[in-house]
Amino acid sequence: MEIEWSKWLRAVILHLEFLQEAGVRYLPLSAEGIQLLEQLQHPYPSVSSNQKQSISFFSSSKERSLPPSSQQLWGLEALSPQTPEEKQAALEALRQRVLECRKCEHLAQSRTHVVFGAGNPAADLMFVGEAPGGEEDRQGEPFVGAAGKLLTKVIETMGLRRDQVYIANVLKCRPDTPPGRPGNRRPTADEIARCVPYLIEQIRIIQPKVLVALGATAVEGLLGRQAAAPGIQRLRGKWLEFEGIPLMPTYHPAFLLYNPTIQRKRELWEDMLKVMERLGLPISEKQRNYFRKASRQ
Ligand code: URA
Repeated sequence: MEIEWSKWLRAVILHLEFLQEAGVRYLPLSAEGIQLLEQLQHPYPSVSSNQKQSISFFSSSKERSLPPSSQQLWGLEALSPQTPEEKQAALEALRQRVLECRKCEHLAQSRTHVVFGAGNPAADLMFVGEAPGGEEDRQGEPFVGAAGKLLTKVIETMGLRRDQVYIANVLKCRPDTPPGRPGNRRPTADEIARCVPYLIEQIRIIQPKVLVALGATAVEGLLGRQAAAPGIQRLRGKWLEFEGIPLMPTYHPAFLLYNPTIQRKRELWEDMLKVMERLGLPISEKQRNYFRKASRQ
């Protein structure tokens, strides 16, 4: 039954994407249509009658900047999965679509794996990175290279395990680099615009209580170029919001690998303490005082 629902959902989403690409912005729904949706015996909660009679797909940054109060009125919001099983099924359906994605043909050709995301589909805490690096491209898992090891350490220092949180990137494919050139390149604005709707769908499915944006590209992907313009050093440590979800911008772990100073580490840790407080996670004296002594030396 779950598989049938996933197939049905996938077909609807493909059709909506087709309409979206053809320029359709809103789908008007009749009162009868809404009534029918209310009666449907599907695993997601039904559309309530006070919701607007149209469905919007928020792929452009303009639409994403609608205030949360009006976003909550749109039909698709009401179709969001609620239980961990529903979230898992919805993420799996989305993963199947992303695996086939060829919106950036150059990246589809150069990738070894699509790196969809990993972790708990019902996580309270979701980390958003930039794009897969070489190791992630080889393994098909986010944050498994050097920066990933540091992120894992941060998560564990918070008293959590990687499988308790969710980790995803703005881009699902590794930004290609010219043959023989080492390192990674930043995603282009076009690549971000094409890929970020997948991340937004992931967030809407998971519905985390807190988002952490690792670096300026993650902020740009979620909140747009202008929001990210001040740079991560200015943005970090201050709460922002994405669709009503508290969003903490902080340093990308790769930045700390290149700038391994006590001050930068302490700043990242202070941001994580704020995240822990917001989530109501227990904080020991030892955790609270990490890097404090070291920074006084
Ligand atoms: N850097 C990122 O932003 N994401 C990864 O998955 C790995 C490195």
